[in-house]
Amino acid sequence: MNPDLERLIALQNLDSKIQELKAQINTIPAERERIEARFNDFSATHTATRTRLDKAKAEQRQLNHELEDVQARHEKYKKDLMKVRNDKEYTVCLREIDSSKKEISLMETKLLQLMEEIEKLEKEVAQYTPEIAERRQVADKELALCDQELGEAQKTVDLQTQEREALLKAINRSLLSRYEKLSKRSGSALSEAKNGACSTCRMTIRPQMLSEIRRGDQLIDCENCSRILYYIPPTESVANAE
Ligand SMILES: [Zn+2]
Repeated sequence: MNPDLERLIALQNLDSKIQELKAQINTIPAERERIEARFNDFSATHTATRTRLDKAKAEQRQLNHELEDVQARHEKYKKDLMKVRNDKEYTVCLREIDSSKKEISLMETKLLQLMEEIEKLEKEVAQYTPEIAERRQVADKELALCDQELGEAQKTVDLQTQEREALLKAINRSLLSRYEKLSKRSGSALSEAKNGACSTCRMTIRPQMLSEIRRGDQLIDCENCSRILYYIPPTESVANAE
């Protein structure tokens, strides 16, 4: 086969492999995002429960302080009651004792409700915590696989790019510029002649032209898509079977 044609075929093979790998590399950030999103979806419910628990505990602390104040006020009025000097003071004292008692009872009811809520939320949090840790581990493992895949693909791209650079030096400039123009315009510069047709545009090749392509000693363009046609003989086992 014409050495130029041989090199162009090798170049196109490399280019398509590099292109494939780059496409694979480009899918990795989205894959990483999917992994994180799946974990976040799962942990969102858990995070909401934790937030509710923290809020309930803060409320409980606040209410305990307020209760202490009201209880102190209640005790003070009870002592004052022993020292009243007239009916008016007595009535005021009794009214305060009564109202603080009601307040204490309301607060105690509210505290009991809070305690029950905290207990329930703590149970939920305790139940979810190991599962969250497990899911995080799974996500981290998947992310590590993504990184590994990315590293390997990038390494192969680098190697193949080096190989490509070396190959470019051996191809004459005008042929190379034709190759580049064609691949930029049509996605590929060369097309295999297979089953009597251009395998890319499916145009039937005239028999005379086909035998020239089979000889492979010159560059022949497809009359329809302008790609450079080449012919790969069937492998031996297939050839023997024919
Ligand atoms: Zn064609």
